[in-house]
Amino acid sequence: MYLMCLNCFNVFNPWNVKYDPKEDKNQCPIIHCGWKLIQIDENMIPIITTLNQKGYKTTNCCSGHQWSFNSTMKAEEMSGAYIGFHPLVRITSAPDGWVIEEKEGGGYIIRDEGELSIQRNWGLLEKQQWMFQLCTTALKWAMNLPELKWSWDSNGYTPRYE
Ligand SMILES: [Zn+2]
Repeated sequence: MYLMCLNCFNVFNPWNVKYDPKEDKNQCPIIHCGWKLIQIDENMIPIITTLNQKGYKTTNCCSGHQWSFNSTMKAEEMSGAYIGFHPLVRITSAPDGWVIEEKEGGGYIIRDEGELSIQRNWGLLEKQQWMFQLCTTALKWAMNLPELKWSWDSNGYTPRYE
């Protein structure tokens, strides 16, 4: 797990910066930045950076893993990968192996369709390969998305769709 700033896109090791996981607001230590740091899985860093730099603001994500700090997940279990987007960001395509879902409060989330992987009776190796594959296809998808421009109008700061 790393820490990342969605304003300056610097990535930090949690041991090297002032960071309290119990605090909601941990500030980016870069001078004149000071945005909130988010927790991020290593494999998600290039994807989330690409999406946000292109205007596809994200709210939360997980690369999927076979372990967890704060649950009793066993090695043979596996959590799914997902990326949540800002409520004003419209998502109309998904990377290979991922599906689009509408969030309850509005907006979209993309999620690995292999959440079913637990039921597939895969071994550790297959699950690890699946996880890396998902992150690779998501990065490729993000790199191929057109830029989404945001601007001010009477509704506030909103994305512009052609
Ligand atoms: Zn920053």
